[in-house]
Amino acid sequence: MSSPAPLVDRHGRAIRYLRVSVTDRCDLRCRYCMAEKMTFLPRSALLTLDEMALIAERFVARGVTKIRLTGGEPLVRRDAMDLVARLGRHIGAGLDELTMTTNATRLADHADALVAAGVRRINVSLDSRDPATFRHVTRHGDVDQVLAGIAAAKAAGLQVKINAVALAGLNEHELPDLLDWCVSEGHDLTLIETMPVGAIDEDRADRFVPLTRVLADLKQRFDLEPDAHSSGGPARYWRVGDSGVRLGLISPLTGNFCAGCNRVRLTTEGMLYTCLGHEDSVDLKAAIRDGGLAGVDAAIDAALAAKPLAHDFKIERGSAPAHARHMSVTGG
Ligand code: SAM
Ligand code: SF4
Repeated sequence: MSSPAPLVDRHGRAIRYLRVSVTDRCDLRCRYCMAEKMTFLPRSALLTLDEMALIAERFVARGVTKIRLTGGEPLVRRDAMDLVARLGRHIGAGLDELTMTTNATRLADHADALVAAGVRRINVSLDSRDPATFRHVTRHGDVDQVLAGIAAAKAAGLQVKINAVALAGLNEHELPDLLDWCVSEGHDLTLIETMPVGAIDEDRADRFVPLTRVLADLKQRFDLEPDAHSSGGPARYWRVGDSGVRLGLISPLTGNFCAGCNRVRLTTEGMLYTCLGHEDSVDLKAAIRDGGLAGVDAAIDAALAAKPLAHDFKIERGSAPAHARHMSVTGG
């Protein structure tokens, strides 16, 4: 097949980053992410591993240089590590980076294989190091299992960045200690505002914390200097003293970051979403089954021609989520 055109959306933004939700399933039930009784997609609705890989490889052929595998929890899909190994073969041949976001419950078993496949950095979600708070936020998680996963990843040579969603009355008061721990362990930390995507069992407004407030609090305890570093993504960064550790803040509610958006998202059932905050999508499962890679190319082009300029998230008491799709489906 001839070399296809690189990916540029209708606002002139080059698309270099693909996030893939490997599965919508998860072994945890974080309160801000999912309802306790979640309905997951039937297995018959999912892309096969081969289809997922073929689509991801097509994105690489069209100029995507970074792929993140996420979910749901990517490591609960049985063949997830086969996908990692397959995509890892493209590192240095079009792909600059293959990475993963995981809750780390199964990381200890897979850290060495991730490194062998060429993964160098991963993101791990850890909203609290306190066992009771962690159990409460995740509804049944064991923080020791997650900490063991993080330690195994570090021992295997992976650079680990910690992600934490700031939650009023749950972990907000712990965030300075979490940053302290990250500094002592050499992990970068990214804090995230809770986003109104997908129905959950509580009102997100009750837990929403503006990161402007968290930053003001952290500045009381840490020497934070703005850092010019950009991942091309939504985070704004601060250097934590001379520790070498970076603090990132993702503030979709209090600071819109869409102007430099370089990413699109593939779901486990093959929908391509061009914005986390909108419903615009194309069906790449139908495209690949009906039209092969030419069909995929045409569908991707149609999606980019419609990529929204920005999300317009709002969190107000009693308001409905921006849309019904959970972060675990889109791939957070
Ligand atoms: N299960 C993996 C994990 O937790 O790292 C990967 C998928 S999870 C959806 C990816 C990230 O999205 C996590 O850092 C999680 O905290 C975040 N997340 C989930 N729901 C969110 C929401 N409604 N608002 C903001 N962040 C959310
Ligand atoms: Fe699972 Fe990640 Fe959502 Fe928590 S945030 S329920 S670990 S997908």
